[in-house]
Amino acid sequence: MSGADDLDPQLAFTVAAVWRRERISCPHPDWLSSYLQDGLEGGAAEFVRFHLEESQCPYCNAAVSDLRAREEDAKAVPMQDLKDRLLRSTATALQSFRR
Ligand SMILES: [Zn+2]
Repeated sequence: MSGADDLDPQLAFTVAAVWRRERISCPHPDWLSSYLQDGLEGGAAEFVRFHLEESQCPYCNAAVSDLRAREEDAKAVPMQDLKDRLLRSTATALQSFRR
């Protein structure tokens, strides 16, 4: 009757090893992008935050910084486009002013 106490550390070790090898507790990539856009609620947001910040999962943190970089690109392109258009319309305005 004394074997039960020995089981838990062994099981915990196995779970940790499986977690590291199989990444069974990683959230779905969709969750990560929703998390970045504040699209997750309560427990789901907390789970992802814990996974990234407390567990410091290297896979998901890499995925998140990749998603962040892509978001920055998406934001940067229209801004550059707007600047080009402003410069062009200013040049057009100056040309018609001289005529
Ligand atoms: Zn992960």
